[in-house]
Amino acid sequence: MAPIKIVQFPYLSDNYGILLHDEDSQQTIAIDAGDADAYNHILQSRGWILSQIWVTHHHWDHTDGIKELYQRWKCEVIGPKAHSQAPIAHLSHGLRAGDTLQFGNSLVQILHTPGHTLDMINYYFPEEKILFSGDTLFSLGCGRVFEGDMDMMYHSLCQFLTLPDDISIYCSHEYTRANGRFALTVDAENQDLISRMSEVEKLLDAGQPTIPTNLGIEKKTNPFLRTSDSSIRKKHGLENASASDVFAALRTAKDNF
Ligand SMILES: [Zn+2]
Repeated sequence: MAPIKIVQFPYLSDNYGILLHDEDSQQTIAIDAGDADAYNHILQSRGWILSQIWVTHHHWDHTDGIKELYQRWKCEVIGPKAHSQAPIAHLSHGLRAGDTLQFGNSLVQILHTPGHTLDMINYYFPEEKILFSGDTLFSLGCGRVFEGDMDMMYHSLCQFLTLPDDISIYCSHEYTRANGRFALTVDAENQDLISRMSEVEKLLDAGQPTIPTNLGIEKKTNPFLRTSDSSIRKKHGLENASASDVFAALRTAKDNF
């Protein structure tokens, strides 16, 4: 049983695309599809045939390539069952929280994490310890709250806190440097954050991605997962606020950073 191959590649200005390939079944999955050319280039170079596209949410930079990929590969398109504020082209199978998929020998669990959009779903491989977090959780940050409200996004992020630390997180954007610069303004004494940022600067200066990240590191360094931290609360005068209100204060501060 060969492990799943994961290929991450950049497209547009700061998006990451993902192709997953199962050698035994010869199935290939695209996570999102914002740019058909970028996906086709990898598929051709590997000699893979696209079987399915798994969409995280309806935003154009995740979906603009679907029509062209569908026409070329006759692949199945799977994504959120409900709440998309723009139709997802060719969607043939809709998913909700708690649904499962099978990819090769792997079980995949669907998390619904609304806030950035109402339709956002994430794909979690518990045995492989991999999570595709879309635009919900980024390294050292989280997605902007466009369609939901702050409390909804806070509860979506809380779902990640219940997952084990040793999970690799593949998010959809390379925002780590800007996120880290904000994180240092609210959590300046955090030694784990300081050392993660020094690693991030080295990776980016060498032209390397900072993604995937690791959930255990994010729990220690990502301010949006650290709303119960006493020093972050103290710095913002929010010692007695609810965790959801601390999240809202941090997210608003980041929006204006
Ligand atoms: Zn988005």
